[in-house]
Parts: sequence; C-alpha cells; structure tokens
Amino acid sequence: MRIAMISEHASPLAVLGGEDAGGQNTHVAELSAALAAAGHDVRVYTRQDAVDLPVTVRSPDGYAVVHVPAGPAEPLAKDALLPYMAQFGEWLTDRWRGGDWVPEVIHAHFWMSGLAGLAAGRRVGVPVVQTYHALGAVKRRHQGVQDTSPARRVSYERELGRSVDRVVAQCSDEVGELVRLGVPRSRVTVIPSGVNLGTFAPLGPAAEVHPGRHRVLTVGRLVERKGFQTVIRAMALVPDAECVVVGGPPVGLLESDPYARRLRALAGSCGVADRVRLVGAVPREEMGRWYRSADVLVAAPWYEPFGLTPLEAMACGVPVIGTAVGGIKDTVVEGVTGDLVPARDPQALGTAIRRLLDDRIRRFAYATEALERARRRYSWAATAERLVGVYTEVAAVHRPHRVVA
Ligand code: UDP
Repeated sequence: MRIAMISEHASPLAVLGGEDAGGQNTHVAELSAALAAAGHDVRVYTRQDAVDLPVTVRSPDGYAVVHVPAGPAEPLAKDALLPYMAQFGEWLTDRWRGGDWVPEVIHAHFWMSGLAGLAAGRRVGVPVVQTYHALGAVKRRHQGVQDTSPARRVSYERELGRSVDRVVAQCSDEVGELVRLGVPRSRVTVIPSGVNLGTFAPLGPAAEVHPGRHRVLTVGRLVERKGFQTVIRAMALVPDAECVVVGGPPVGLLESDPYARRLRALAGSCGVADRVRLVGAVPREEMGRWYRSADVLVAAPWYEPFGLTPLEAMACGVPVIGTAVGGIKDTVVEGVTGDLVPARDPQALGTAIRRLLDDRIRRFAYATEALERARRRYSWAATAERLVGVYTEVAAVHRPHRVVA
C-alpha cells in the first residue's frame, strides 16, 4: 500500500530525549520501518524545522521522510504549531493533487497532524486513520494550569475522532478516555505500539556498572510529568543502589538545563546526590546498553498514554516497576513481569524497589516473564500487520472521488 504517515512535530530522524522528542518519534520510525520491510511504500510527512533540510530524505530503513514547509524553518515548541497546520494541510493537498504519488491511506499521529491530514484527505478522497498518542483532557487533568496546549485542543480532538475513518487507541485506558471524549466506540480499534526486538534484546553490550551496587534505571524526556522527582525521593528508601536517569539534553548541556538542575538539587536535599546520575540524551541505538545494565527499570509518570520505555526494558529482560497509569497497566503484569504502584507516591515506590532489589529470585522470574511477554505480544511486525488490516478496511470503503472541500 501507499501509506502517508503524518507526524507534524515528531520526525523519525530526530535526536531523542528533548522536551518534545520521545515516544512518538520512535513509534513513527519503527512503524514506518516495519511497514517498509513488509513491502509497503511509506512516506512520513513532518514539519521542516531547519533551513538546510532537503525536501525528501530516504531513511536507511526503507521509507522516505518529507519535510513540509509550514511556519518558520526553525525548531518550535509543539504547542506553538497549531497556526501552521492549515498551511501543512494545503501543502499536502497540492502535493498529492499535482504529483504522481497519491496515498491510499493517511495515518496521522497526534491531534494536530490529524487536522492537517483530514483537511488534505478530504480534498483528495483518501481515508484517515488517527492515533492521538496523548489526549488533551488527560493532560489538563494532570497538569492543570501548567498545561500549555492550545485552548481548543480538546474540542478539536473530539471533532477529529468523530470525523476520521478510524481511531487507533494504544491501550485499554485510552479507549475509556476516547469514549468519555465523545468518540463512538465503534470507530476505535486498540493496537498497542511494538518494540524493536532486534535493538532491545537481553544479549549485547551493557553500560558499565558499579560493582556491588544495584542499578535503578529511569528513562524519558526531562519533563515533570515523567515523575523523576518521585524516583529521586524514593531512592532515599533504597540503600546501596544508584539511580541512572537517561534523557534530557545532551550531557554537555545538562548543567544549564533548569529541570536537570532541579533534579540535582532535589537529590542533594534527599541525601542521595552521590547515588543519582544524570547522563543526558542517549541515541536510540545505544539505549539497549543502558537497559541491559539495569537491575530494574522504573517508570513513574503521573500519566502515560502508552509508555515505550517499560516495554523496551522488558524486551531486554529487565523487570519493571511502574506507576499504575495508562498503557503501563497493559504492558506490565503485576506480580508476573513487574510491580505497579500509585503515581506520585515516593514511599510506595521506594518500598517496591527495595523489595525487588532484595529478592533475586523474584527479579529473575519477572525478567524471564517480561522478556517472554514482549516477544510474544509486542513485535513491530505484528503491530504493522494489524494496522495494515485497518488501512485495508478503511481504504475499501467507497468514497466520492477527489472531493473538493
Ligand atoms: N529515548 C531515547 N533517548 C533518550 C531518552 C528517550 O532514545 O535519551 C527514547 C526511549 O528509548 C523511547 C522514547 O524515547 O523509545 C520515549 O518514549 P515513551 O513512550 O517512554 O515516552 P514519551 O516520550 O512518548 O512521553
């Protein structure tokens, strides 16, 4: 199939760990690679955020990345992109109307990509599949006034869910949120993200460890909702272990990063500064080294639309302690592949980490089951195949040819 992925702010080619570069980038890159490997013709459309970017770049993984001129050709926060989505949609329309490559299906990632994709899809008569990755209502609930999303995000998301041909939810928790938002259940199909079982595997090089010290690893964009503060506070209850935080700006810029400084100050005030290490952004291909070096992966977000890092750790045979939120409730099986604790509760988290680090047999059992579960249920090839099923269904519906909106 000819498949157009739209990922307005999250390029599959970006360096990860920064404020707006994380799971969606990985998801779009891995999904596009899996679809290309299965013989599909995939183009990813993302906003041009630097002047010197060529319009089209071929990824070594077999798909094309097209840089769409929409707004200034410079990095912008994703919450500032809405005004440029009409331009994004018009550019796609012109390209597909005038060119020799017209997609058979559009798969939009994040709500703003959905707006651009739907505008273009309607005009050229191509169906649209929507994955939200995150929902405005959930963000608002947890972040309150700190949420910098455009004011009308939730109503746009509702309209989008009612207008696109299919919504793909990534976990059962998201289905409930979508129905509460007003998206008909019949339009929603649950297909979880996958994990790259080649990159993330138990055998392979591992980052150096301190002899005699357990390693607690936590990974993510350095933003407050990822719960790093809870992890650092919990470390006070876990003697003889170090905590490694992967993510944020490159290591050389950590010193000037306000959130990294806050985390360091917090570690100081909790008396664990000598056992908390921030390593900054790590390239995706090196992430396996860090997971393999860990005794446990802790994912302590306040909320989590899917959560790739627990799954990546599981695929490396590492047990996970996660907060019982969003997609983590589906990936981590409590008492089998890891433990679940309430969000924002350092006491519960610290107790769970300590209990697991003190129990070698339990760790080994969790690790084995985690690996088995990741391999059995979360390969990208299987995820891509299920999505192609959805693409085929929506593309088979007869729609007016090239409707002009
Ligand atoms: N990641 C990375 N390098 C870093 C930090 C994160 O490659 O320094 C990757 C991580 O391996 C995962 C993604 O970024 O693939 C984060 O995805 P997740 O779903 O956990 O969080 P999100 O960014 O979607 O909130």
